[in-house]
Amino acid sequence: MRLIFGVLAILSALIFFLPEPEGFPILEYHQVTDAPPEPGFEVYNVPPAEFAAQLDYLQAQGYTTITLQDFMRAVHGKATLPEKPIVLTFDDGYEDNFSVMFPLLKARGMTAVVYVITNELGKKNYLKLDELKAMQNYGLEIGSHTADHLPLTTLDKEMQLRQIRESKIFLEWSGLKTIYSLSYPNGAFDSELEKILREENYLTAVTGEAGLNNLSTNPYELYRVHIRKPRFGLTEFKFRLWKAKFFAKFRSLVN
Ligand SMILES: [Zn+2]
Repeated sequence: MRLIFGVLAILSALIFFLPEPEGFPILEYHQVTDAPPEPGFEVYNVPPAEFAAQLDYLQAQGYTTITLQDFMRAVHGKATLPEKPIVLTFDDGYEDNFSVMFPLLKARGMTAVVYVITNELGKKNYLKLDELKAMQNYGLEIGSHTADHLPLTTLDKEMQLRQIRESKIFLEWSGLKTIYSLSYPNGAFDSELEKILREENYLTAVTGEAGLNNLSTNPYELYRVHIRKPRFGLTEFKFRLWKAKFFAKFRSLVN
């Protein structure tokens, strides 16, 4: 026991004194609402007032929101990233992303990436196609969270392909601009999925692993830090940003 604590203490000290890691955070949100969550999903609902405070904090800290298409343009040398980029992502495609989150972003001139489960679109509490189009026309990026939200690593090849391909084709055939990004349901991914994503013309995919991203990060295994419903307001939000940095440092140590 003592040994374990000793090793942990040394490791923490090492990580603390490592140089600042290069890279930007990608934040993972779900719903922005005061509505009571469904049982089992308590941590997923960030209240609008808390969310607005987080956006104001990011702006005060000098962050500029970008999309993952902006990121890929920079990877290919066709654009430069702002000094302090950050990506806000929203999983599952809840209706409040349009009615609550989108106006808060617009008021601040910020952008985001919204990942939708295509077979849930238009159902109760979920986004509708014209809402997706409105957000995309404004400059938000719309991505796929697959057709049915099944963890891809539990499926056979044919089913994986269908989930990845059909969600993209559905959105594009419904009049949206090209879909380039995917969010792995439940954060479940492996290196085989990258091949399918490349073949299906996706450029990026986000995981649920904490860390920071830079131009040399594998674009199919982008790191994200989960923003849960905060119990301690902005302090907890700052802790989440710090967590992304901590994991980035930790990875630089073990790689
Ligand atoms: Zn999800």
